[in-house]
Amino acid sequence: MVGAAALYFLGTYEPPPVDPEWALEGSAAIPPGAVTVRYTGTATLLFSDGETAIMTDGWFSRPGPLRIALGSIGPDLEAIDRGLSRNGVDRLAAVFPMHSHYDHAMDAPEVARRTGALLLGSESTANIGRGWGLPEAQIRIVVDREPIRIGAFVLTPIESRHFQFADPRVRERALGDPQISEPLVPPVGVFEYRLGKAYALHVSHPKGTWLVQGSAGHVEGGLAGFEADVVFLGVGGLGSQTDAYREAYWRETVGRTGPSRVIPIHWDSLTGPIEGPFTGPVRAAALLSGGSDRTLAFLKEKEAASPGVRFSTLPRYDEVVLF
Ligand SMILES: [Zn+2]
Repeated sequence: MVGAAALYFLGTYEPPPVDPEWALEGSAAIPPGAVTVRYTGTATLLFSDGETAIMTDGWFSRPGPLRIALGSIGPDLEAIDRGLSRNGVDRLAAVFPMHSHYDHAMDAPEVARRTGALLLGSESTANIGRGWGLPEAQIRIVVDREPIRIGAFVLTPIESRHFQFADPRVRERALGDPQISEPLVPPVGVFEYRLGKAYALHVSHPKGTWLVQGSAGHVEGGLAGFEADVVFLGVGGLGSQTDAYREAYWRETVGRTGPSRVIPIHWDSLTGPIEGPFTGPVRAAALLSGGSDRTLAFLKEKEAASPGVRFSTLPRYDEVVLF
């Protein structure tokens, strides 16, 4: 029996850890040939140049906190349907989960099945695809730093690192023994979606370049030599790290790639609704972590110290012209 107080804390959310002043609106007009982005939440981004569309993660299911704590999870077909239609997309050339945890990779095989996309990722992500019955011809295991041309996009996956969970037990369960070595058939427990490999994704297009950093971790020097006009910066979990960790993360992502725009991602609740305004983390999680989320304060410091860098956050689903 779950007490009323516990239900209350599982059903309420902190405010999002981003500045409302950074919010972009959907673009009123999309010039032909423009590169656009649409954001669902967490690290699910849809990029299109009008000819070709690619997606990171493709995650829409958002199982609630009780399901995660007590039961098994699997793709929510109705949520995927709604998510794809709110993104206005029925054909995708590729879907690339940033790593194989459930909040990135769980829905990607179904997204690939519905849109004809190639599922790109590590062996672990491939095994999520196989467990869902996705044909082998629609699965491609990527090689670290080997560029993949898709339409006018060149995608370069770069092996990176996941953020470190503050709680050592969660850290061990979520990051220890990272491989999914057999086809994974849902529904399964949340930790069965093991990490696989955590990637940064560099994308280059004739109109511009960008980096998607899915999780707030880095490899020292891993992004040396990569430039990006825009960095989609994963900040989930960043607020509970040390100052030194945050500084190193910033230096090794934004510092290395020299963007003129930073767009924080993965700051919204994993369990919030798929429609309506974004919410911050579940209040219960914030309480467990001691309410010590420093994400917004850190980003504001960096904004003040980086006059050449514009900070933006994306609206939900609305199409925004990137280049
Ligand atoms: Zn993760």
